Amino acid sequence: MSLSQNNTPDVLPALPVLVGMTTAELTAWVESVGEKPFRGKQIAQWMYQKHVTDAADMSDLSKAFRLMLTEKTHVSPGKIKETVKSADGTTKFLIELLDGEIVECVTIVQKNHLTACVSSQVGCNVGCPFCATGLSGFRRNLSAGEIVIQYLLMQHAVSQGLLSDFTPHTRISNLVFMGMGEPLLNYEPVLKSIALLNKEVELGLRHITISTSGIIPGIQRLMDEKADYNLAISLHSVNTEVRNRLVPINRKYGVTDLLQAAKLYANRTKRRITFEYTMLKGTNTSDADANALIKALRGIHCHINLIAYNPVNSPFQAPPRKEITHFQYLLTEAGFPVTIRNNHGSADMSACGQLRVHQREKELKTLA
Ligand code: SAH
Ligand code: SF4
Repeated sequence: MSLSQNNTPDVLPALPVLVGMTTAELTAWVESVGEKPFRGKQIAQWMYQKHVTDAADMSDLSKAFRLMLTEKTHVSPGKIKETVKSADGTTKFLIELLDGEIVECVTIVQKNHLTACVSSQVGCNVGCPFCATGLSGFRRNLSAGEIVIQYLLMQHAVSQGLLSDFTPHTRISNLVFMGMGEPLLNYEPVLKSIALLNKEVELGLRHITISTSGIIPGIQRLMDEKADYNLAISLHSVNTEVRNRLVPINRKYGVTDLLQAAKLYANRTKRRITFEYTMLKGTNTSDADANALIKALRGIHCHINLIAYNPVNSPFQAPPRKEITHFQYLLTEAGFPVTIRNNHGSADMSACGQLRVHQREKELKTLA
């Protein structure tokens, strides 16, 4: 950092951001600003247990300390910019980060639980041509705090009764990294966010799932961690030519090696892998595709999740429903557990990253 003539730094140091720090880190920080160490734990409890991210509401802290937190820190690295609820209760949140970037996250109402879907990056550079996030390019990685805040803001909204018309459940019990971005290309912050969610928020590790487009070194690294993480792999095809087109990273990390890594992962962790398979009309939904999939997945402890393509600004189309159920039938007959993921969200804003694209379009129109 350079100093200007009056000896003040010409780049002001950024304010500390509290969501994203562990209790130990918060304790060290409060001590560094002259407060008693136990204040760190109090702040952690407000943020991670009570989902309160406005310092003014942290009622057991002194007024002076609350004011200091408000003026000299960012407790929260993001705030809700927009909420869109659809007919089945699925709710999308646009979160604005401190630098003005926007990420999307979603709460999904299921029979017995509530699931949160979070983003790991602003945009994504894997570039799958049927994905709104992929089509909009890559902006930057998220920090651990920027991931955790998505959960905290959604949980706070749910606690306030946001979904009371749809479910008696008021606690988000499951979390999936299936929003914007490729989590295994932002490895450390994603793992730190999971540690925070697990240890500070107290969300069970078994209720957290990382979804990857198939970053083999990331899968191998994950396998060597002490904890066993739930893994979902976005497969979409086992045919190299087709997968090269659908998931361009396949040119680097080919499907044969990917399935080998998946098998090792399942054996090593004893966790069942989920294979996600987005159904694209005329591309990957034939009987031959089902048979190739059956052959390739034989012997891997797995579950297959078929996803109907959600229309985005791309040339792909969703197959008719009966084509999906027939594909499911073939896989089930071959002995695989198969589920079909419902199309959550309103028809034109249902796919991952799409709401953010709409928001940016709106902003560009306002500027024009
Ligand atoms: N980058 C990670 C996680 C985010 S995407 C990954 O690719 O796994 C989560 C899932 O949604 C992936 O399986 C992805 O292929 C799928 N998806 C993306 N766009 C979609 C669309 N328009 N319709 C249906 N599924 C889509
Ligand atoms: Fe990235 Fe996943 Fe979208 Fe592919 S599907 S572009 S990996 S977010």
